Amino acid sequence: LSPQDPPWLQGLNPPQREAATLLDGPVLVLAGAGTGKTRALTARLAQILHERRAWPSEILAVTFTNKAAAEMRHRLGALLGPQAETMPFVGTFHSIASRMLRRHAELAGLKSNYTILDTDDVQRLLKRIIMDAGLDEKRWPARQLSGLIDRWKNKAQLPDNVPKGESFAFGDGRGAELYARYQAELKTLNAADFGDLLLHMIRIFETHPDVLAEWQKRFKYALVDEYQDTNAAQYRWLTLLAAKSLGGQGNICCVGDDDQSIYSWRGAEIANILRFEQDFPGAKVIRLEQNYRSTPHILAAAAHVIANNQGRLGKTLWTQLNAGEKVNVVAIWDGPEEARLVGERIERLLREGASASEIAILVRASYQTREFEDRFISIGLPYRIVGGFRFYERAEIRDALAYLRLISQPDDALAFERIVNTPKRGLGDKAQAKIQSHARAMGLTLPAAAQQLVETEELSPAPRRALSEFLANIRRWRGQMDTLDQAALAQAVLEECGYIAMLEADRSAESAGRLDNLSELVRAMEGFTDLQSFLEHVALVMENDRSDAEAKVTMMTLHAAKGLEFDHVFLPGWEEGLFPSQRSLDENGAAALEEERRLAYVGITRARRRATILHAANRRVYGQWTSAIPSRFLSELPADHVTVETTLTGGASLWRAALDERDPFADMERGSGRGPGWERATARSSEWRASAPGGLDRSTAKRGSVINARPISSSVGGAA
Ligand code: ATP
Ligand code: MG
Repeated sequence: LSPQDPPWLQGLNPPQREAATLLDGPVLVLAGAGTGKTRALTARLAQILHERRAWPSEILAVTFTNKAAAEMRHRLGALLGPQAETMPFVGTFHSIASRMLRRHAELAGLKSNYTILDTDDVQRLLKRIIMDAGLDEKRWPARQLSGLIDRWKNKAQLPDNVPKGESFAFGDGRGAELYARYQAELKTLNAADFGDLLLHMIRIFETHPDVLAEWQKRFKYALVDEYQDTNAAQYRWLTLLAAKSLGGQGNICCVGDDDQSIYSWRGAEIANILRFEQDFPGAKVIRLEQNYRSTPHILAAAAHVIANNQGRLGKTLWTQLNAGEKVNVVAIWDGPEEARLVGERIERLLREGASASEIAILVRASYQTREFEDRFISIGLPYRIVGGFRFYERAEIRDALAYLRLISQPDDALAFERIVNTPKRGLGDKAQAKIQSHARAMGLTLPAAAQQLVETEELSPAPRRALSEFLANIRRWRGQMDTLDQAALAQAVLEECGYIAMLEADRSAESAGRLDNLSELVRAMEGFTDLQSFLEHVALVMENDRSDAEAKVTMMTLHAAKGLEFDHVFLPGWEEGLFPSQRSLDENGAAALEEERRLAYVGITRARRRATILHAANRRVYGQWTSAIPSRFLSELPADHVTVETTLTGGASLWRAALDERDPFADMERGSGRGPGWERATARSSEWRASAPGGLDRSTAKRGSVINARPISSSVGGAA
């Protein structure tokens, strides 16, 4: 350490410092969770700016989420002053590609105000294409086709280079044909889906060397976080921009951890790590081994679980932190009990002075949050859901956004379809079918067809009047885009189109909530420069945690939690079929299961001080109660670093035995008494309780639930 070190280099260990200061040529940092990869990458960015090697706009920095990008900008701003905060090419692959594509849209056959479709739009569009092709949408669902197209796009495959065999995955061999129709349709809609953002740019680079050369010249440095999860399309895009062999400047630094590769279902390829040294010859590989995040117990737990995977690059992790608390495994009766217990523990943490923002609940499946949401709402515990579509997915928000999209983009047929009769204005199925068929016959977009129709006699007078008025309103609002700011415009639109009146007329609690959501939407719009940038933000970000200063407990999926850290982490639902997921169990071969295990590793390593893992004896799956088997990952935890509690039978092994009988728990009906299994288990538990050592946990003992906390027994603990 030298005293004249700039602040971003202070405290870095030698390999971290190397990663931050070896600026010329390719660098690959391969290291485990919490070893300061992201920190070193941020320091490198600061160092590049500090040495004036490049202007902020000449650096390409790819982060895993928009939030991570914002954080990086913020940190740089703090280190280097406000100039660093305006870094246009710090963001996710999608947001950066989208920004680039706006400039070159015409080369992809689009206008620069193209719409980015979300999954809902995509599926509606695909459904129509499937039906138009004469296929039965029930047999060949749009969801499936959208999944396939996604996969092809992740592999950078256009319709004409989809392998023949793969085309047979849909519609008896018509997969590629429908993909081609979909792409053509997107063009007429002046729209792109998420995959297109990268794919169009790759195509443009490959066919317009001048455009490619311009961007290669611009990007003096490229930095990539969470590199293990790049897919083939992202990798191609990156090499085009940065590989020396293709004309790029070759100054690229990627950081990643093969044990945290959790997006293979989205086409991520760990192989990209191994290919790095090939595509970027002379790459310096740096390994980091000191973990700065977690206690030794948490690290040991994570290391034991991941050690069960084959084919890892393998690495050592150590920490200087003090031992702290062991990882806590808690067995509970069912989902509601799980939510109640977690709620109580969190309240206790808050009483002890923890901040809610340092607490997270990480779930395997996004639906798992609902139970916690219900519970937390009822006990008034503030929470937020991160990384989902949640807020912007709500029907009233989507309706409002459709109005705004149609105002901003006159050809947006999907938005038109969504709101032409919402709120109801007498344009029922019959009128809409007329518009559809007129559009098809004349080769027009829906809004254009509607405009023509109101000038003819084809619609009966009432719908014709309604449609004409609707179109006139849209035009009028469009005219106000220059005079009103986007938030005021949205407010006016929602009032004048009758949407607010419609909700107010319906006096249900649900409508009140919807009204609140709409005002939240208007509030959210205030921070943007214009309507277009807000709509782009919505399409890209899909988070509802903006502008709230209050500390909140975070709920998110394990997938979304990558790269983040919290003092206290709760990991509910560690049961076979939920985690590992049923899909991974159904799949042949170990690959899917290993990915689940990596997800477990990601989950545990998010915790700084305390990790609590929960599993329920009963779980409601598709409305049916079933008995649940504890996750195999629990048995992979090291006994020495874990404590086990149960609210159920009073001892993990007893509870295990009860579970092993299986039948008593089978087909349990909610509310219809708890069945023979419950009584037997309770009887056992009171027997056991009589001889139980140690004191009761007070906060939960009053419900007679948690009655034991002791080191995990070898029958449960497995590998030590
Ligand atoms: P992940 O694999 O989960 O993305 P990571 O390797 O990116 O983890 P960081 O998030 O960069 O790790 O760092 C983990 C924590 O350790 C952060 O709180 C960071 O500030 C801290 N940290 C990193 N390096 C150091 C260091 N040299 N000295 C002190 N703290 C550090
Ligand atoms: Mg990181």
